[in-house]
Amino acid sequence: MSKIVAIVGRPNVGKSTLYNRLIGERQAIIDNVSGVTRDRIYGSCEWNGKTFTVVDTGGFVKNSQDVFEAAIRSQVQIAIEESEVIIFLTDVTTGITDLDEEVAHLLRRSDKPVIVGVNKVDNSTREISANEFWSLGFEETYFLSSITGSGTGELLDAVAEKLPKNEEEDESD
Ligand code: GDP
Ligand code: MG
Repeated sequence: MSKIVAIVGRPNVGKSTLYNRLIGERQAIIDNVSGVTRDRIYGSCEWNGKTFTVVDTGGFVKNSQDVFEAAIRSQVQIAIEESEVIIFLTDVTTGITDLDEEVAHLLRRSDKPVIVGVNKVDNSTREISANEFWSLGFEETYFLSSITGSGTGELLDAVAEKLPKNEEEDESD
């Protein structure tokens, strides 16, 4: 399997919407990978000549706050272990929440490259609100709208830049 890029973040920030946009029609669910559970969906993506596997995390238990937070923590932990690059997706319409802070804290302690995506930046008014997300402290923060597709190219450029060339990866596998 090609290098893994995981999308993590709270429910409803738009992870699955972004995932579907990145995978497009190339979606191929990869079944027989160890550690794959039903709440992680894997698909293949190519950008700037780099092929990688995108992981949509989610499908959390909805009615228990504790289980819910633990599930997010565990998804983040798996992402830190298995991914080459992590996309930490947030939502401009809610602003920074406590759970965002917690995810940010876990990610800061890892040495994997983290790219923050501030999603739902559908118009220029929201761009102004999106600036608050710089305070999470990640050097690479991109504003995007997974629904319109605006900003997703810049996010993908940043992801691809952190991945090895396809040939290099073939040699190492
Ligand atoms: P997930 O729980 O993180 O996977 O989030 P989903 O992808 O299921 O999206 C949650 C909701 O946010 C859905 O109603 C989406 O249509 C909406 N959504 C996702 N991306 C955007 C966006 O860029 N702009 C707006 N306005 N809504 C979005
Ligand atoms: Mg989802």
